[in-house]
Amino acid sequence: MPVKYWSRAGIMLTAWCDAACACCYANCGPDKHLWMNNDQALEIWTGLTEASPHGCRVHLTGGEVFGRFDDLLALCRAAHRAGLGPLEAVETNGGWATDEGEICRRLAALDEAGMGRLTISADPYHQQFIPLERPRRLARVAAEVLGAARVRIRWQTWLETGFDLAGLPAARRSEILQRHAAGGTDRLTGRAADGLDGQMQLRPAAAFDDNPCNETLLRGRHVHVAPDGSVWPATCIGIVVGNALRRPVAAIWRDLAAREGEGGLVGALQRRGPVGLMELALKEGFVDRPAGWASKCQLCFHLRRHLAAAAAAPEELGPAWIYGARLPETTEQK
Ligand code: SF4
Ligand code: SF4
Repeated sequence: MPVKYWSRAGIMLTAWCDAACACCYANCGPDKHLWMNNDQALEIWTGLTEASPHGCRVHLTGGEVFGRFDDLLALCRAAHRAGLGPLEAVETNGGWATDEGEICRRLAALDEAGMGRLTISADPYHQQFIPLERPRRLARVAAEVLGAARVRIRWQTWLETGFDLAGLPAARRSEILQRHAAGGTDRLTGRAADGLDGQMQLRPAAAFDDNPCNETLLRGRHVHVAPDGSVWPATCIGIVVGNALRRPVAAIWRDLAAREGEGGLVGALQRRGPVGLMELALKEGFVDRPAGWASKCQLCFHLRRHLAAAAAAPEELGPAWIYGARLPETTEQK
């Protein structure tokens, strides 16, 4: 079965975020001062557009991309002028939405610059950090400016009935987050790989054997690009199949298609799933968790984090901050 073209892509403009949600599978936060500049974003966007004969719909994500609104708007305008693949969506946690006039102004400008949809995150994790009144205000004004059909809330029920967690005692907060996680809507990678599995059924690693990731890695049609240009298949954040700032996206896709099922960590994951990384990880000192794992992706992330720390396959695992390495105090991706 042939490798699928990438027809949807998330360009991750930044790892910076005003929140640090327990569910964040990209490990974003206030200490991650890493921003893709607009020339780089346009180069990647162009590469994604050219790489698929069917075109590629792009969403802009972070981190919190509204943290530098003027840059975000300039990028959208430049891509629109250049006729690049359509801007399907811009994602935000809504933490900036304190003033209705400013919200109207920003959304109208993005609308004119080609934004298809606004996606707003609201769930117990986000409301550890972001007062719920802000995404509520943003959702209401966005429905007026863009029309309700172009506003997506993840999750609508929580937006309507949720509450702020910031002032709650730690034990109560933890209980709420664990209960939400047990609903199974989160991928347990990145920050979510640690500590969100308290109310889940855990199974030994062997239970996830012979569970290939072929479909996700090769046939998902979906790809993410990190602020440093690392290309991650689907939502398998931290698994690098190439760098879009060093090699054309089309060439990265061709390389992946040509080596389907062969060699390296990606090949092992394609053929067998995360247990395919176990032997190498054990050699590097990985200690399997006696209690077991809540999902194959959680096991995968723990194995990969260990291998990344051991520098076992640096070209396939990264960038290092995804796996918890501290970033220097830089503000731009060079
Ligand atoms: S999940 Fe979203 S809002 Fe939360 S830390 Fe990650 S990027 Fe920020
Ligand atoms: S187990 Fe790893 S490679 Fe497979 S889908 Fe999950 S994160 Fe991706």
